[in-house]
Amino acid sequence: MATKPITSAQGKRTLEALRKIRPFLPASLTITQRKCGNPACRCAKEGPIHETALLTWKDATLTHTLYVPRELRAQVREWIDEWKKLKTLIAEMGDAQRACLQTLKKNRKRSSKLP
Ligand SMILES: [Zn+2]
Repeated sequence: MATKPITSAQGKRTLEALRKIRPFLPASLTITQRKCGNPACRCAKEGPIHETALLTWKDATLTHTLYVPRELRAQVREWIDEWKKLKTLIAEMGDAQRACLQTLKKNRKRSSKLP
C-alpha cells in the first residue's frame, strides 16, 4: 500500500515540472514554398514562391498535414515546443524510475541478508 509516490529526488523534480506543462501538440511545423494555382501569377512560370506553413504528424500508418495560417504559427510553435518539453520530461522520469528500481533491488538484497 503506497501512500506516497516511490521515486527519487530527480523523479520528484520531474513530476513537479510535469504539473506545469501547458497545452501541447505532438507534431512539427514546416515552412515551405508552394504555387498558388493562379495561371497569371509568376509562380506558374518560376515555380513555387508562396510561403506556406504545414503542420505534420504521424499516426500508426499515415503522415498527416494541416495548413497553418500565418497568424496562428506562433501559437502552434508554442504548442509544439511544449510537446518537446514533455518528451524530455518523460525521458527524465524513465531515468529516475529505473535508478529508483535499482536502489529498491539493492536494498531488498541487503535486507534479505539480515537474520
Ligand atoms: Zn502564385
